[in-house]
Amino acid sequence: MNREYYGKLIFEHSHPNRRGYKLPKCEYNDVDIEIPASLLRSSAPLLPEADELTVVRHYTNMSANNFGVDTGFYPLGSCTMKYNPKINEEIAADNSVAPLHPFQPTDTVQGALEAYHTLQSYLSEIGGMAEFTLNPYAGAHGELTGLMIIKAYHRRNGDTGRINVIVPDSAHGTNPASAAVAGFNIIEVKSRPDGTVDVEDLKPLLNDTIAAVMMTNPNTLGIFEKNIPEIARLAHEAGALMYYDGANLNPMLGVARPGDMGFDVMHINLHKTFSTPHGGGGPGAGPVGVRAGMEHLLPNPRVVKNADGAYSLICADDSMGRISGTLGNFTVILRALAYILSLGRSGLAIAGKLATLNANYIKECLRDLYLLPIDTVCKHEFVFDGLADKSTGVTTLNVAKRLLDYGFHAPTIYFPLLFHESLMIEPTETESKETIDRFIEVMRGIAIEAKENPDIVKQAPHNTPVRHPDDTKAALNPIVTYQELIENA
Ligand SMILES: *Cc1c(COP(=O)(O)O)cnc(C)c1O
Repeated sequence: MNREYYGKLIFEHSHPNRRGYKLPKCEYNDVDIEIPASLLRSSAPLLPEADELTVVRHYTNMSANNFGVDTGFYPLGSCTMKYNPKINEEIAADNSVAPLHPFQPTDTVQGALEAYHTLQSYLSEIGGMAEFTLNPYAGAHGELTGLMIIKAYHRRNGDTGRINVIVPDSAHGTNPASAAVAGFNIIEVKSRPDGTVDVEDLKPLLNDTIAAVMMTNPNTLGIFEKNIPEIARLAHEAGALMYYDGANLNPMLGVARPGDMGFDVMHINLHKTFSTPHGGGGPGAGPVGVRAGMEHLLPNPRVVKNADGAYSLICADDSMGRISGTLGNFTVILRALAYILSLGRSGLAIAGKLATLNANYIKECLRDLYLLPIDTVCKHEFVFDGLADKSTGVTTLNVAKRLLDYGFHAPTIYFPLLFHESLMIEPTETESKETIDRFIEVMRGIAIEAKENPDIVKQAPHNTPVRHPDDTKAALNPIVTYQELIENA
């Protein structure tokens, strides 16, 4: 760690008895509770003692060393990190929201239930599904929910021999993982050289042991799956259901709907497509939609609108069960609703098309200098296989690190695993032409540097606070407390 640049740790600013804050007097001093001696600590905890200004400056300076969507372009493929309108953050943080309790009587939370129900119906319209649940907390949680719905569907039909789920080799890792957690075996179907599912490879796999075919669209290479109608027909003829991983639905918004393509169950990541920032791992929401006739299988409870206009919660006996303690991550739901309402139907369709246009623009402007393994129109993202000129010895990792010197976050690297030097770029729909052009200019500049002065790229980054952290050491030997730091010094 470059301690010189980062300055001291908060512990190193500590001086005995220096205070920035006084805790209120404990109200319960006179409560007579005997704490067992074995649970009492024998020495005082190691806590920093610092005045308020020192604390504020320490954390403000530290935050300024971070990269985020508020500081620069973040073209990470596969996990959209886009601009999240500030107004949506304000709505989610509103004082009327925080005090709500998930188990309050429904007649006291009619507004919240209306927001939930409205988003549920908007997502149904966007996805072409009959009904959505907003209860799951993440994309993978939505996949698990969807697969449990599929399991419940076959069980209700007495079709208990369907123990396998087909997953393409290009799928996001959560797909096979969710299928396994739901109790299915996974059968892999291969991709063709153009990156789409190989229908000829799929055909012999379909039989009466298959519960579902999971597909991601656009797939993990950012390509629209061409043969969906045929795959859906074959799957349905074999009695299997079609599952749509819509984690990255951006380019589809207002353009095409999974329900119209023949999918029976789908999930959406609100934290990728509908405004919730998801850096740092959360919070998220993975709403799940089903086609008509499967609504009763959705998780309990469901929010319904009664004939008198009031909202209530219902639990169906037929349901797959419960997937969450409550009605999902409510503030994520509010952000998504605000986002959809502010864009409207036509705005959503423009967002979808811009996501596609921006990605194709970057791809076309860089394809002479970077290797494009699959040459086709992409949707919201695309993959290069490193630099076109392989003689320089400059790797995708080097390019990614060099981008940091120019103030850009690196794209996703070494994923998907289909290529050795994957560099996966997703600009999203919300970046300006100027930002995208500057990114292109920098990417072109790095490719030229790689030829003329490869060492400058190989030794990058040069301008960041930390230059070459030892990734392995950090994983094998993490030092996460000040105590450990002292002991390791
Ligand atoms: C991100 C992603 C997921 C998983 O979503 P989480 O919210 O991270 O669990 C699933 N599939 C695809 C294609 C994704 O991009």
